[in-house]
Amino acid sequence: MKDTHKHQGLRNQLVKILEEKGITDKNVLTAIANVPRHLFMDSGFVDFAYQDKAFPIAADQTISQPYTVAFQTELLEVKPHHNVLEIGTGSGYQTAVLIEMEAKVYTIERQKELFKKTKLFLPKIGYNPKKIIFGDGYKGLPENAPFDRIIVTAGAPFVPNPLLAQLKIGGRLVIPVGEDEQIMTLFVRTSEKDFKKHELGKFRFVPMLKKRN
Ligand code: SAH
Repeated sequence: MKDTHKHQGLRNQLVKILEEKGITDKNVLTAIANVPRHLFMDSGFVDFAYQDKAFPIAADQTISQPYTVAFQTELLEVKPHHNVLEIGTGSGYQTAVLIEMEAKVYTIERQKELFKKTKLFLPKIGYNPKKIIFGDGYKGLPENAPFDRIIVTAGAPFVPNPLLAQLKIGGRLVIPVGEDEQIMTLFVRTSEKDFKKHELGKFRFVPMLKKRN
């Protein structure tokens, strides 16, 4: 499967839809215009890759809706060379968007099948995360902490303390919190002990689960 002018045209239309829905950050929109989302999807769904919808990937997981990816990424305020920790590698689409924005990405996936697939796939299409890890996102990644930014792409029943602890002062954590539906929540670390919390609307994610094969 290739990336063609037709795909680029569809991506430009998708970017327009995201702008209409309220995404304004040009760096986020440019990244979405550049990442070939159709390559991240199982072949049966390729025709739908540039609709603003979530779709099934392997292991009963989903590739997030482009609007959700854009919304979370905009909240994150990623700058070039930021160290970013992502929980929930999944298809690697969000990872690729972050790499397009010149972030150094560390990403954790707890499903072995997805981990293996995405670890091989991302470098093949030119996206090289700093690390792709098979592990439990609830623990974060202490050996590479602190991070400028942390993004969780599965629904977290609560906010894991290690993630807050692994944030730099001035850093931002974007995490959807809740069981059946989630409130998109932004934490900004303002000092060693203090965090500012902002709640930004309802979303639906697959649940963040404990480590498993
Ligand atoms: N960012 C992904 C979204 C995938 S859906 C994308 O763009 O495609 C959420 C992912 O989080 C799933 O792949 C799921 O397996 C993973 N996940 C769930 N619980 C997790 C945990 N505790 N640690 C790491 N990953 C987890």
